Amino acid sequence: MPGALLGPAEIRDLAGRLGIRPTKTLGQNFVIDGGTVRKIVRSAQVRPGERVVEVGPGLGSLTLGLLEAGASVVAVEIDPVLARLLPETVERHLPGAGAGGEGRLDVVLADALDVTDLPGPPPTALVANLPYNVSVPVLLTFLERFPSLERVLVMVQAEVADRLAAPPGSRTYGVPSAKVAWYASARRTSTIARSVFWPVPNVDSALVALERRDPPPTTASREEVFAVVDAAFAQRRKMLRSALAGIAGSSEGAVAALRTAGVDPEARGERLAIEDFARVAEGVARPSA
Ligand code: SAM
Repeated sequence: MPGALLGPAEIRDLAGRLGIRPTKTLGQNFVIDGGTVRKIVRSAQVRPGERVVEVGPGLGSLTLGLLEAGASVVAVEIDPVLARLLPETVERHLPGAGAGGEGRLDVVLADALDVTDLPGPPPTALVANLPYNVSVPVLLTFLERFPSLERVLVMVQAEVADRLAAPPGSRTYGVPSAKVAWYASARRTSTIARSVFWPVPNVDSALVALERRDPPPTTASREEVFAVVDAAFAQRRKMLRSALAGIAGSSEGAVAALRTAGVDPEARGERLAIEDFARVAEGVARPSA
């Protein structure tokens, strides 16, 4: 019987037999190193019996690691060939763990960005080696649509990991940092060498751990706050009084909203934490007469 995890030879063999040619547009770089899979599962602090959602299971490297740790997994995969293959691969490595057996695996064939509900119990963790081109939208979508998610552990492009975990005022702080902070605190935990993937990508990767927290208290809606974040960073080099003039109706309106929020109108967006954006949004959404 094969070991619990997929090895490099089997990954290449599976891909060869099934005519799978990894595509760049779908970010198909498969993890071929069991040590990395176990590191991800360990960092995610997966508990036996916990319901975990995985986006982009691919050939099943991480899915097997999650099942091996005793999780029950709902895996969302956009590629029909990979989605079809997954239960078989799981059954071969962990007999009884796949769909049918103990029912610890559900596979959803879909674009993760379109998924509005998931089969089975609500997941408490998202653990994934995310497709690079949609990693931030997938993260934000899942945090918004699945409030049951308490924790996230994802592998993303190293540069994206830096942005997600960046504090206000730092060079890499931007829209993803501010928006993710609405939902969670983020920590970049480790760098992953590109040699653990097949095919080898031309960027480095890193793990990011998120822990859900309450959004900042505000009377503005999430949409209103995010509109202010987008406007502030659309013109990153501009002072907030100018950058927010459009959504506030005028430069004077922007100045009033910023002052009421206790923010210097001459500051730039990169200095504001999500709590500041939330206060500014209150004045922008409901300008005082
Ligand atoms: N989890 C596997 C591993 O670690 O080896 C594969 C990870 S690979 C970086 C990304 C996976 O996401 C691929 O299987 C790809 O087909 C899938 N994918 C890409 N875009 C997707 C989307 N929008 N929704 C769901 N899956 C997607």
